[in-house]
Parts: sequence; structure tokens; C-alpha cells
Amino acid sequence: MNQEIYLDYAATQPMAAEAVAAMEQAMEDVYGNASAVYRTAARAKQLLEQSRETIAETIGASPEEIFFTSGGTEGDNWALNAAADRAAGQDGSDGPRAAAQRRPQIITTPIEHHAILHTLSYLQDSGRAEAVLADVDEAGRVDPEDICGRITPQTALVSVMMANNEIGTIEPIREIAWRVRDAAQRQILFHTDAVQAYGKIPIDVSRDGMDLMSVSAHKIGGPGGIGFLYIRQGVRFGAFLHGGMQERGRRAGTENVPAAAGFAAAAQVAVRRMEAEERRERTLQQTFLEELRQGMPDLILNGPPIGPERLANNINVSIPGIVADSALIALDLGGIAASAGSACTTGAVQPSHVLTAIGADRARAKSALRFTIGPATTAEELHRTAQVLTAYRDRMRSLEDEAD
Ligand code: PLP
Repeated sequence: MNQEIYLDYAATQPMAAEAVAAMEQAMEDVYGNASAVYRTAARAKQLLEQSRETIAETIGASPEEIFFTSGGTEGDNWALNAAADRAAGQDGSDGPRAAAQRRPQIITTPIEHHAILHTLSYLQDSGRAEAVLADVDEAGRVDPEDICGRITPQTALVSVMMANNEIGTIEPIREIAWRVRDAAQRQILFHTDAVQAYGKIPIDVSRDGMDLMSVSAHKIGGPGGIGFLYIRQGVRFGAFLHGGMQERGRRAGTENVPAAAGFAAAAQVAVRRMEAEERRERTLQQTFLEELRQGMPDLILNGPPIGPERLANNINVSIPGIVADSALIALDLGGIAASAGSACTTGAVQPSHVLTAIGADRARAKSALRFTIGPATTAEELHRTAQVLTAYRDRMRSLEDEAD
């Protein structure tokens, strides 16, 4: 059964019709292995390269800088692993003590997705990197000054997300990227996880200055299981998957041509509609928050105020008097799909690491609900959601009163 009201676009977005059509056509028409020499294979290769070109255009990159991956998680893993190897591998001949002293530092933030934070813990536990966490303020903002102040001769990589998946904070990526470059004279790589930002805010790799960027297709109406890592031309960077020579020897494995075609179609649509959709969602976001506040004046908006520092598709609120997990069930019974924190932590007992990092106490973190909207969301759907949620909270309150 489909949800009547889907408000979990940051977890995944329903496929765009254009992406489905492109994939259907690719699956029907193209069947050669893109690496083979015969003619049908050439068609597969052509479609793959066309898709790469289309995607490159959306960020002002050249096609040679786009490396298809299985999604955001892989891009993040690749960026961190390869940066650690790159720094440590400069000279491996001087024994374990010197190697430990040279252990590369990776600077990141405590509000990154687990694809970054858990990878970094893994690198740290296996002695391959040292994690340095920058500060964030009460809205999840990263201060470029703070990042630069943490750079040492050991720093190999700085990784700061472009927009946060739970509270929608848009980080000052351009400023961080250029300042890291200035401070390090290009010795340090700058990576950004743009999984939540791509297709929502304009990205231009020349202007924005990142060396590496992870993107995922299923967040913008493309298929699951594909994404890309942008690697700036000239950056020395190791392969992630070893085997065949696909993706110019840097990511082995037979390419998923229909998925690449679907991704390219979704990317084209998302970027073409971005400005208009941003305006539309901004109005919905504002109205939804006002409606929620009318019924529940004591709610707390987690993350930055509505405006240029916050993604237009995100509302994250802590509602005193509710427990998020139970509220999600009540919403689900009302046909509404939402989330508590990020999808990956839904169901976990621990409060969200993002809310904890911005200073939310346990009660505030446990009463936090995330609503993320998208191209199909309507004002009526949000109005209904506000009504269902307010009625639920009132019920919880009166049960509490009865129990007192
Ligand atoms: N990074 C961020 C900010 C995300 O929101 C997500 C998914 O929720 C990921 C990385 C992981 O992306 P994928 O699901 O494509 O592996």
C-alpha cells in the first residue's frame, strides 16, 4: 500500500517519470557490456558516456571528472580511504614509529552522515588516519575559521557536507574550500558530501572549489544504487575497487548503464526545475511551520531559521510531549510517512548524533520529527499533516493530564 502523504524525500525520492522512461528504454535497447568491442557494446558505451556528460554539465565539470559509484556511501568511503592512503603512502620505508607520527589527519564535522563518520572511525581504529572534529553552532553551522585553525602539517583531507540531511543546514562550502586551498597551497584535499544538496542548490565546481564531491541519484528522483564521485582533474587519487579498467581504472566493475541513463535523466530534470521548485518548496515550508506552530506554540525548530541557510525541503521540529517513534506510528496510521532524524537511525534507541551535536538534550532529541518535501508535495498534504500531528499531541497531553 502506498502512503497517502509522503514526507520523507531526504531518505529517498520517488523516481522521476523521465528517469523511469530512460531506464526502460536503456534496458530494452542496450545490452552489450560497455567495455566490449562489438557494435551493441558501443551503444552501451555511448549511452554511458552521454549520461556522464549530462551529469558533468549539471555541476560545470568535465566528463572525465565524473566517476560513477554505487551511491553516496561509496563516494564518501572512497574519498576518505583514498585520501588517507594518498597521504600515508608518500613514503612507506621508515618504520612503524615514523608512519604513526605521519598518520594523516582528516578534519570533518560531528554532523556528517554516518557514511563519513563511521568510515573515519574505521580508519582511526585501524591506525590509518586521525579524526579531527570541528565545532558546529546551535544551528549546525560550520565556521570556516574554525576549520582552518585545525589544519596542521598532518592534515590530508577536510570533509564538510554541503547540506545536512537531518536539519537542512547549508554550509559555507565555497568559503571553506577556498580557504583550505589558500592555507594549504593545494596540499590538502577538500571533499564535500553533496548528497542532500545536489539538485536542490546550484553547484559549480570551478566556482565552489572542491576537489572531491559525493552525490547520490536516489535523492533526486533517480534510481537507487548509483551515484558519482567528482574528482577534480589533476588530483592524484587511488582506485577504490580493484579489478577491470572501468571508470578509467579507478573503479572496477561492469557499469550499470540503465542506472546511469536514469540518473542522467533525473539530474537534468532536477537541475532544470531547481529554481522554481526551490521557490515553491520555500512557501510550503514556511506555511507548514506556521501551521505547526499555531497548534503547538512550544515546538522547537531544529536547525537554522527558514531562509538561505536552510534547505527549502526540510522541517525538523522537536515537539514537547511526544516521543518521535510513537508519533511516527500515529502518523503512519494516518497515511503519513515522515522520519525521526535520518532514515539510517530510525528505529535506533540512540538520539540523533546531529541533534546532540547542536546541543539538544535527550528529551528534545527524542521528540524530533523530520519532514522533507519534494516535487509532488502539496499544500493540502502539509495542512493535513499539521492537523493529524496537532491532534496526536493534544491526545498525548490529555493522557498525561489524566495520569497526573
Ligand atoms: N550522505 C548524506 C548526507 C546522506 O543523506 C545519505 C543518505 O541518506 C548518504 C550520504 C548515503 O547515500 P546513499 O544512500 O546513496 O548511499
